[in-house]
Order: sequence, then C-alpha cells, then structure tokens
Amino acid sequence: MRLTFHGAAEEVTGSQHLLEVNGRRLLFDCGLFQGRRAEARRKNEQFAFKPESIDAVLLSHAHIDHCGNLPRLYREGFRGAVFCTEATADVAEIMLNDAAKIQMEDARYLPRHLKKGHPSIEPLYDQKDVHGLMKLVQPLEYHQEHELAKDVRVRFEDAGHILGSAITTLDVEEEGVWRRVVFSGDLGRRGLPLLRDPTPIGRCDVLICESTYGNRVHPPVTDIKSELLRILKDAVTVGGRVIVPAFSLGRTQQLVYFLNELFNEGLLPRIPVFVDSPLSSRLTRVYRRHLDIMDSDVQKILQNDHDPFGFLWLTYIGSPQESKELNSRKGAMVIISASGMCEGGRIVHHLAHAIDDVKNTIAIIGYQAAHTLGRRIVERQKYVKIFDRDFSLKAHVEKLNGLSAHADVHDFKWWFEKAAQQGGIGQAFLVHGEKESSTALAEVLREYCDEEPIIPTRGDSFVV
Ligand SMILES: [Zn+2]
Repeated sequence: MRLTFHGAAEEVTGSQHLLEVNGRRLLFDCGLFQGRRAEARRKNEQFAFKPESIDAVLLSHAHIDHCGNLPRLYREGFRGAVFCTEATADVAEIMLNDAAKIQMEDARYLPRHLKKGHPSIEPLYDQKDVHGLMKLVQPLEYHQEHELAKDVRVRFEDAGHILGSAITTLDVEEEGVWRRVVFSGDLGRRGLPLLRDPTPIGRCDVLICESTYGNRVHPPVTDIKSELLRILKDAVTVGGRVIVPAFSLGRTQQLVYFLNELFNEGLLPRIPVFVDSPLSSRLTRVYRRHLDIMDSDVQKILQNDHDPFGFLWLTYIGSPQESKELNSRKGAMVIISASGMCEGGRIVHHLAHAIDDVKNTIAIIGYQAAHTLGRRIVERQKYVKIFDRDFSLKAHVEKLNGLSAHADVHDFKWWFEKAAQQGGIGQAFLVHGEKESSTALAEVLREYCDEEPIIPTRGDSFVV
C-alpha cells in the first residue's frame, strides 16, 4: 500500500492523508488549511488528487482543520462514502454549514475593504455543497468493526479530544496478509470532562500520529470548578459581570457542565448565566443527543439530572436583539460567548462593554494565540484595542488552565507505551505539528517503533 501526505505535514492545519491499497483510494480526513489568506486559498481550492477518484473518506473528528474541506471535495466531484462516528456527523454538519455561511458573508462584504485588483473572494463551497456532502455520510458506532470491502475493515475508537472524535483503525489484507494502519486523528487526554479517555491501541504496522504538543508539557491543571465558584461568588459580592470567551465546540459545554454540577451540589450562588452564541447553542443540542457516548461521570449524573447542560439560572440567548439587551441589564451575571480567542463574534461586544470596569472579571480559559485580543487581555496590557477604539483594561483577568483537548508529551508517552506493551508499532509517521514539536515527539516515539519515525513533508509518498 501507499501513503501520501497532502496536508498537516509539518504544520497543524489541512489534515489529509491518502492511503492507496488494492486499487482503492481512502482519504484520512479532508481538513481546511488555515493561515495566510492567499496561501490557504490556493491549497484549499485545488486538491493534489482527483476528488472523483476517492472511494471513501475516514473522518477522525469535526474540527474544521480535519473536516472543513469536505464540501469542496464534493463540489469538485467526490461521490464516495464518508465514514465517521454518529456524533462527528452531527457536529460536522453544523460546523460545515457555519463555515459555508462565513465564506458566503466574506465574499459579500470583504471585497469592499480590499485593495483594487485583489482577486475576488469566491466561497470554496456553499450550503448546497454541504447538503450534498452530508448525504454521503455513513455514521458508524464506536468500537464496532465495519467491512468497507472484503479486504478492508475499519473501526473507530475513542480519541478523547472532542465529542465524536475517533482514532481510526484500518485492517487491510494485501496478498493474503492482514496489516493494521492506525490514524490517531487529534489525540485527547485522560480525565477531560464529558469525554471518555483515549483508547489504548494494540499492535499496529503503520501509525499516523498527530504531534501538535509533542514538545510541550501542559501547565498544571487548575481546579476549574472551584476557581469558577470563587470568581462567581466575588462577582455576586460586587455586582460585577463575568465574561468568559469560550470556543463553541467543546469548551462552552465543559463550562456549562461544571456550572450545572455546582448547581446540583447546591453551591452555585444565585447569579444568572447566559450562553450567548447561536453556534454554541446549536452544538449543545448535539451534545444532548449523544449523552450515551460520554464518560462514566456523566452517566452517574444522568441518574438524577436528565440535562447536564441546563439548570434553572441558565439561559441560551438567541437573537442579536436579546444579546444587546444584556448590555442594559444590571447586577452580577455570567456571559459565556464565542469566539474563544476574542477575535470575532458576540464576545467582542461583551468585552467592549465590560472591560473598563474594575467590578468585572474576564475569565480566560486555555491557550490564546499571538496577535489575538485574548492574548492581549491575558498579558494584561494597560490599553487594548477593540473595534479600533482604545479601552483601558480595568477588569480583573483570571486565567484558568487544564482543559486543553490535545495530548501533551506525557499523554503521548502513555499511549505509545500501551501500544508497545500490546505488540508494538512498526512504522510511524508524525503529522499535524510544527517541525520542532514533531521532531521532539519523534525522539520519544523512537524507542517504541521497529523503524525510525518519519516526519513527512507535504506531498511525500511512501510504500508501506
Ligand atoms: Zn481537533
């Protein structure tokens, strides 16, 4: 068989890896490249292979850098099957429709702000393409083997990264010999709220493994639940707002889940909580539909509480009008809104409204990339620019760690060790990481593999 790396090679976006076996062409993921506009555009627009020649896509999870170019693949002629877990199918439909909507809006509004002569910004795909693509999706249950063909079997295991995320195990027969190819997708961590832990894999002949944080040890986990409780109690005392920028997929539901637990335990002070992001609300409905694949803590809660994402003082905000009305509301409150790095969406309005008052608190959860408003807030810059206006940062800033959805080097080591104990790893490829990160992880991985781990460059192809 032949393996070719078409994306997420020495970088962290555009995940897509092509496996050719017995005349079949299978694609692991079909993610969107993100980054500098023109370059990303070029990579997303044209595939390095014929879309109509792909027999099936095996989708690891519904983050846009893993599924975001599927509608483009459809638009360009792909009519094979897409296999993923049921939850991934549901989440992907929402994420892809949202991506299509944003692209269509950009195409309408951005040209006004671009210099003359700039090429027009056509959407890569629209909602019709998303609709067509979704018809090709065949959801599979976790841990169940599915025969793609007589000589190809696929199984999804828990990756513990986001709802529905999977490690893909592919058993392939070539000339009478069965071999196993494993694709980690994005590997999560043990002990994350809501999610089951990543499944340890057994012997694999070929491993394609992500390496986003292969050179990193995550900062110590703060006890987010008790930190939240402290922040909320302080807010009630002074009558301040607590603004929480949170990603719509995963982070928002984790936060609501913690607050719901505090409510059930009778510890939550009487403070209204608002989730103000239509995308977050839509995704939370998907979470509610898939409670059965969540961890044992959730199953325990469900015995007494049928909805871990709702409690008496929580409101999901819908229309822009309702969102604006929060501005004139008096007293203590919590507003959880997107985007997670404060770069767009309703959160920016809430920050502009709250940032220059010492009574208020901004609770930042997790990593904030360079050059984002979130980063400037974490750095506690004296003044920050919002909507081209300088605001003085007087609100308290709290930083909460411990919800990173990606494995760090200790988590990887644990996962590799398990594979080694159960038969070992043949040839490994490290993808989805910056060069330094992948190189550092190769050092760790080396001792568990038969062959020297390889860090492919985009376009590299190997007979395995
Ligand atoms: Zn991911």
